[in-house]
Amino acid sequence: MPVAHSLDGRLAILTSGGDSPGMNPALRAIVRSALDQGVEVVAITEGFRGLVAGGDHFQTMDWDSVGGILHLGGTAIGSARSPDFRRPEGRRAAVRNLIQNDVSRLIVIGGDGSLTAADLLHREWSEHVDDLVAAGELPPEAVEKRTGIVLAGLAGSIDNDFFGTDMTIGADTALHRITQAIDALTSTAASHQRTFVVEVMGRNCGYLALMSALATGADAVFIPEKPPEDDDWARRLCDRLSAGRKAGRRDSIVVVAEGAHDRHGKPITSGEVREILERGMAEEVRLTILGHVQRGGSPSAFDRTMSTLLGHAAVQFVLSQDAGAEPQLMGVRNNRIQHQPLAACVEQTVLAAQAIADGRHDEALRIRGGSFSDSIDTLDTLLRSLPSPPRPDQRRLRIAVVHSGAPAPGMNAAVRAAVRLGLDAGHVMLGVRNGFAGFIEGRIEEPGWMSVRGWSSSGGCELGINRKVPSGHDFYTIARTIEDRRIDAILIIGGWSAYQTAYRFLSKREAFPAFDIPIMCLPATINNNLPGSELSVGADTALNSIVEAVDKIKQSAVASNRCFVVEVMGRYCGYLTLMGGLSTGAERVYMHEEGVTLADLKADLDHLVQGFRRGKRLGLIIRNEMTNETYTTPFMAALFEEEGGDLFEVRQAILGHLQQGGSPTPFDRILATRFAKRCIAHLIDEAEHGRSSVSAIGLQGGTIQTLDLRDLPRLVDEQHQRPLEQWWLSLRPIARVLAQSGPTPNMRSEM
Ligand code: ADP
Repeated sequence: MPVAHSLDGRLAILTSGGDSPGMNPALRAIVRSALDQGVEVVAITEGFRGLVAGGDHFQTMDWDSVGGILHLGGTAIGSARSPDFRRPEGRRAAVRNLIQNDVSRLIVIGGDGSLTAADLLHREWSEHVDDLVAAGELPPEAVEKRTGIVLAGLAGSIDNDFFGTDMTIGADTALHRITQAIDALTSTAASHQRTFVVEVMGRNCGYLALMSALATGADAVFIPEKPPEDDDWARRLCDRLSAGRKAGRRDSIVVVAEGAHDRHGKPITSGEVREILERGMAEEVRLTILGHVQRGGSPSAFDRTMSTLLGHAAVQFVLSQDAGAEPQLMGVRNNRIQHQPLAACVEQTVLAAQAIADGRHDEALRIRGGSFSDSIDTLDTLLRSLPSPPRPDQRRLRIAVVHSGAPAPGMNAAVRAAVRLGLDAGHVMLGVRNGFAGFIEGRIEEPGWMSVRGWSSSGGCELGINRKVPSGHDFYTIARTIEDRRIDAILIIGGWSAYQTAYRFLSKREAFPAFDIPIMCLPATINNNLPGSELSVGADTALNSIVEAVDKIKQSAVASNRCFVVEVMGRYCGYLTLMGGLSTGAERVYMHEEGVTLADLKADLDHLVQGFRRGKRLGLIIRNEMTNETYTTPFMAALFEEEGGDLFEVRQAILGHLQQGGSPTPFDRILATRFAKRCIAHLIDEAEHGRSSVSAIGLQGGTIQTLDLRDLPRLVDEQHQRPLEQWWLSLRPIARVLAQSGPTPNMRSEM
């Protein structure tokens, strides 16, 4: 819907510096959101080099220009380094080109160098306009333009080194690449009892190294923000790895960030670490430098959705501002899109790099934020080859861990972290086999430190799981088991049935005092349908599985006019459907929250027919499994097939259980680990103080918080097993804008 804007002129976009996966989804969202608002868009090819050179580097974009790029890594409009832009004459030429091309708003996607450059261009703008008019390179009336250009920046960098956003575009995908590589190395290392040193990118930021070590269960990590505490680190590293071998580890992985150094600022290189280990451990040590594979490949689901939302928000911002407005960085903060002054973000980013260079590591850690430091602490504990011995005077609690519901990728990572963190705190950890059915049968074991080794990367559910929600006589049996096994606290890792079970225990306390112990739920379900948490463990992996499957399905249709109806899981919750639609470019999503009527189907069918008549080759519709009992996936496919006639064929794809399986994504592993850490700390604290709350951990506003489960009934739609409030529903209008046919008919031939 076109709207009135405060400024005339066109909107330009450029990508600059090192490319990163996610730049294309951002580009697509920017072009289509602007066109949707009735604003002309130009892409400036080859970054600042194209901006300085002008001419053919300014390309007018239409709806189709950004079709078929959502799944591609890199940037479709090119990126280049530009020494010219570093000189005032280069930037003056850039201003001239922008004015001559009638550009009044600019969105730059790039790293800290590029965003510094963009900010500089904005600050010098009026000076350059004056010079250009004085030199006769612009006509006298161009002085009107001296008030400035409206500018927004998006941080595109795999390093996640930019202040003002929790994630930079490309960092999640890079973490996927690194995690896959380390998982692969782990299996070969274990076969030969070998040690691998892995060097990862990140320049002066240790994010990728730290998070990949946390996600893969590596044995040691070297990052710039936290150099080894003393000069004896090489010996301690060898001792630790040797102790791990003695304790039964067959493989060892050491992750080294490319910017790592010791406390004197002397670089710690991956080659040096390898030599140290080879000498100290008298075994073969292999070195793998991951290099540019980390930058390449198809963007992850997160990088697709985040970049799409950021691109859309950047367009809204630049269209709402007057000339000369303070440039802003569009970023993600606490799971919400927000913006902050670009200059301040650039300054803090440079300060962090400077703090590291000067050896002020506390300052660097402060700028990186709380969850970075928290991850370092967690890793320090999980990496130990054996737990700290219990204190002699300590009360040793007995904490049970049990699953409930359906398998969700990341559950094993949660158990591993819970078991190790509990053991390290001096307590006894009990693992219940096969959910509450196993609890009733008394199938309870005592997992040791090494028995959960390798669980961070494994899919499925090692302890076993089922959907049983205790009822009737079960409560008596479970209460007896709690007493017999002297269980002091219970951690339930699972989905809807986990929360139901915890609530039932709470309501049975009067009859069964055994339930008067602290109980905590850790949300783990691909459905993402739990109250008190914006995300549950497993949903990110399921989404990535959907994205991979749909990418392949789309490719299979190259030669024919085809429309796919893809059914995804989620029970009555449309999270996977909507986010799957956003990250694959589906033109329509159907979910239970919105329902579907015959009139909707007719309108969508007409839309499809019109599209294929105009030359469209591919249609994609994503449907939640529970959208409507009558209008099932086969029904929809048959209806569209019949009515589509010779114009297009229809195929259905019911993705099924591939969504529940697979190795968890780095995000799910890390979320599971962070949740487990907080749950164990909470349960210990409750039990030690004689309290017995029943609660759930969750991510709210991006921070980890506790939900009191006494409130459960008033937070959920019991019948449809989902929270009454679902934050992601607010993203529906954006999905609709990007999926429609564009402001002028006849524009789109593919997604
Ligand atoms: P990144 O954006 O990935 O950090 P670079 O640091 O190479 O990549 O910056 C990309 C481009 O941005 C450079 O080639 C140059 O044109 C421009 N640029 C970077 N820093 C500056 C600066 N301080 N002044 C002017 N232009 C700059």
